[in-house]
Amino acid sequence: MINVLFSAPDDDWANYQTALEAAFAASGLNVALSRDHAPEDTDYIIFTPTGPVTDFTPFTRCKLVMGLWAGVESIVDNATLTQPLARMVDDSLTQGMVEWVVGHTMRHHLNLDRHILAPDAEWDPVFPPLSKDRPVTILGLGALGAACGQALAKLGFPVTGWSRTPKTIDGITCLSGPEVLLGALSTAQIVVLLLPLTDETENVLNAQSLAALPEGAVILNPGRGALIDDDALLAALDTGQIGHATLDVFRTEPLPVDNPYWHDPKVTVTPHIASVTRPASAAEVIADNISRGETDEPFLHLVDRQAGY
Ligand code: NAP
Repeated sequence: MINVLFSAPDDDWANYQTALEAAFAASGLNVALSRDHAPEDTDYIIFTPTGPVTDFTPFTRCKLVMGLWAGVESIVDNATLTQPLARMVDDSLTQGMVEWVVGHTMRHHLNLDRHILAPDAEWDPVFPPLSKDRPVTILGLGALGAACGQALAKLGFPVTGWSRTPKTIDGITCLSGPEVLLGALSTAQIVVLLLPLTDETENVLNAQSLAALPEGAVILNPGRGALIDDDALLAALDTGQIGHATLDVFRTEPLPVDNPYWHDPKVTVTPHIASVTRPASAAEVIADNISRGETDEPFLHLVDRQAGY
């Protein structure tokens, strides 16, 4: 019997229990899934930072901690976590993000607000450029950034992507390293942030990098709030250097009611809904990793604790 501890809030248990049990059965895994296994009896932990386990020290035989979230910034520095950590990479999470990014890119590319929000009986045709004339830069070329970049490239957008290490991805001009960041931004009419939050990526959009963008550029941030220096962004929106920012993630969530982002007409706030882990597909990913652990194959989606993601 494999003991799998589910350490996440009640709502998650209600959403995930059936899907996990089905995925374990389909994989032929003999799993006891519980919220109450004793630490010393636990083989695997399914985890969110909002669940009860915060000290991993007593989980002496645990082979793998499997996060339900893609972002790991709130667990990666936990000194008690000596077990391997896997983050969530799930096709449905990726698909949701692709749809959010493509949708918000198309909103700005086609200037959809002009006719949806301002129907003032004015017949004033302005034709948008074709996508081939609208360069997009994606910061972060991981599971999500690469998929979004490829979807935009298929629609004809010239896509530049930026990552920490060199990459080759069909349809995307790939750049890497801090020294080329400003160059990657210099052509971007739309910038998408899909970086993890680490010491290196915090405030990656700041006064200097915002100034490197073409005037009127649009920011889409479904990554993490602290990727952006908020004061610098508000100032750049004021001057028109940035034309609009569509923000899904914030330093403090829920976004406080007095936060200026709520009231700035050049800012669209979405309440951290760009994408979400879906139980059915996530359960298959979890079952796959447990199968790997039981047959001594390498785990998938392991977090590099040194790099912080
Ligand atoms: P991932 O697969 O780990 O990819 C991260 C990418 O960022 C990689 O390309 C990585 O470069 C790059 N990167 C990391 N540090 C960098 C640095 N210092 N300089 C340049 N590039 C750097 O992550 P993912 O699955 O795509 O997810 C990205 C983020 O999206 C998550 O961390 C999470 O914060 C956010 N997210 C948000 C939502 C939402 O609903 N809003 C949902 C899911 C995820 P390498 O390729 O060289 O490693």
